[in-house]
Amino acid sequence: MLTGLKSLVRKATSFLAPTQAQNYPIIIPRSEHTLSRQNLSPNAVKVLYRLNKAGFDAYLVGGCIRDHLIDIEPKDFDVVTNATPEEVHDLFSNSRLIGRRFRLVHVTFGREIIEVSTFRANTAQESRPHNSQKESLKGKDSAKSSHGIILRDNVYGNIEEDAERRDFTFNALYYNVQDFSIHDYCGGLADIENKQIRIIGDAVQRYQEDPVRMLRAIRFAGKLGFELEAQTAAPIKEMAHLLDHIPPARLFDEVLKLLGSGNGVETFHLLREYGLFKYLFPDTEAILQSGWKRDDIDPEAFILQGLKNTDDRIQSGQSTAPYFLYAILLWPSVTLRHEEFEAQGMPTTPALHQAASMVLDNQVAATAIPRRFSTPMREIWDMQFRLPKRYGKRAFILLQHARFRASFDFLLIRELSGTQLGGLGAWWQEFQYANEDAQRELIKNIDNRASEKDAPKKRRPRRRKKSNAPRKEAPQD
Ligand code: ATP
Ligand code: MG
Repeated sequence: MLTGLKSLVRKATSFLAPTQAQNYPIIIPRSEHTLSRQNLSPNAVKVLYRLNKAGFDAYLVGGCIRDHLIDIEPKDFDVVTNATPEEVHDLFSNSRLIGRRFRLVHVTFGREIIEVSTFRANTAQESRPHNSQKESLKGKDSAKSSHGIILRDNVYGNIEEDAERRDFTFNALYYNVQDFSIHDYCGGLADIENKQIRIIGDAVQRYQEDPVRMLRAIRFAGKLGFELEAQTAAPIKEMAHLLDHIPPARLFDEVLKLLGSGNGVETFHLLREYGLFKYLFPDTEAILQSGWKRDDIDPEAFILQGLKNTDDRIQSGQSTAPYFLYAILLWPSVTLRHEEFEAQGMPTTPALHQAASMVLDNQVAATAIPRRFSTPMREIWDMQFRLPKRYGKRAFILLQHARFRASFDFLLIRELSGTQLGGLGAWWQEFQYANEDAQRELIKNIDNRASEKDAPKKRRPRRRKKSNAPRKEAPQD
């Protein structure tokens, strides 16, 4: 850990006291840090050089510098410049302007996107709140809601101002490709050394301006294993409710970054500890708080098992799907609602569909879920009731289902978290890799007692009404 800073710490101990008045930026020359061009995305370097050649200042900033210094593979490379978005766009034919709240440019190289933003000034002091929360002022470059949340942040500034409006000190480190130096404007290097997450400026004001910063603090705590510095942590519980004013689509994206990046278990605990989880998953939090459990589901054990599974997959380089994560987080609510609808006399399948709709409707009010995710979520839930029914041709049909693999993984997580399903996971594990004869044998050998409930019911022959209409074939299942 922290190899990127080793030499640095030896040579420049003065930056270890960020609270004392000091002269920023601290400039760390190439000889005193380990970040070399080889560690950088060649495309990001291309962008930097092109901007420089056109006469603009350009730096790498944010997560890519922070992560390198902590010895983590950077996720993406962000560039910041004094060129306006339009000027950047004009320089790169492979670019497009995006964003309204925060205008920037995406420069695309195949699958890699280099995000280029323009130095921003912090408009916190100057701009006064407006009346309507979602309303922004046309033609203005900055706007705030009545809750003080920044709705638009497009006032450009210089690099010092840009550093001040960033969220945490370790995110305000700039890499200058012209002389390969790192510029530290807010004491981020010392905080990395001390494993501290420290917000820049006054925590209350910065969370007020953008409550998502509270989630970002927790995300970095989960990801980096750092501690929240006391003043950064202090207001979070009281200010968590401000997340209610963030557009659900933005929160959806944040949830995926929080829980779907390989540190979900730790991050889940932190989100709950800081009272933030309930603004992301209100129904799930209510169930967890209530202590509701059933023989076949322990909500907390199940969610933790699901998050652990996702973490393990990510850490071993396997893919994960956002719908799977969401299906996990909402399953306890689905099972509870399902039970309630059944208690009202609804047959089990319609009760499940009704429960799924209700849970999804409630959830989208907190974090929007695009339909391309909610449909597979419903399928995974539905399959939990179909996977036990393996008679006749059913097992073969289920195996062909587009959502079989995800549903099977989901079922294993249920079992691992303590749900007794009579060896159903092991049965499916064997079945999917067996040859056809062995598969038929497996179906024959299904333990009748264990699956008694699921066996096809003996139907009494129905009396048909006399009719002239042609007789239809009975459905196969
Ligand atoms: P990662 O990409 O690894 O998730 P990151 O820190 O690079 O982490 P990004 O969302 O890519 O996060 O943002 C890039 C940089 O922009 C951050 O490092 C930070 O300096 C700044 N930033 C992002 N979101 C905010 C915010 N809500 N408020 C202030 N600054 C922010
Ligand atoms: Mg980034």
